[in-house]
Amino acid sequence: MVRFLADVHLGRVAKYLRLLGFDTLYFTNIDDSEIIDIADNRVVLTKDKELCKRLDSRCYFVESKKPLNQAKEIIKRFNLKDSANPFSRCLKDSAILKRVEKEKILDKIPPKVKKFYNDFKICPICHKIYWPGSHYERMKKIIRDLLD
Ligand SMILES: [Zn+2]
Repeated sequence: MVRFLADVHLGRVAKYLRLLGFDTLYFTNIDDSEIIDIADNRVVLTKDKELCKRLDSRCYFVESKKPLNQAKEIIKRFNLKDSANPFSRCLKDSAILKRVEKEKILDKIPPKVKKFYNDFKICPICHKIYWPGSHYERMKKIIRDLLD
């Protein structure tokens, strides 16, 4: 499975790819040499032609302008449609989410959420808790759009 590193200008794209379950690194503060160091066997997504030249085949130059279209372009180019696994990764750091029992996180969720939801996942790195709440439908719409 292809793994990505999105450059500083592609933050939204990184989020979209994570939302679909694709391993995508993204740092807000990083220079080109660091990107090249960290990239390892990842494909670097960028709109920087110079950086792309330095990375050669390990780079993908993103043509589209809007984040949603950029994500669609990448999904098409790398043929990702069938391997998407939505809601499996943390949107903040790309870590794979783990199921967590409600009893263990009662003190970390709002009362309303406590009342109405039973299905929770937690990020092992930043400990953010995810549940299929109000933003879930909006995200499902984005996912449908991305994979359409
Ligand atoms: Zn996280």
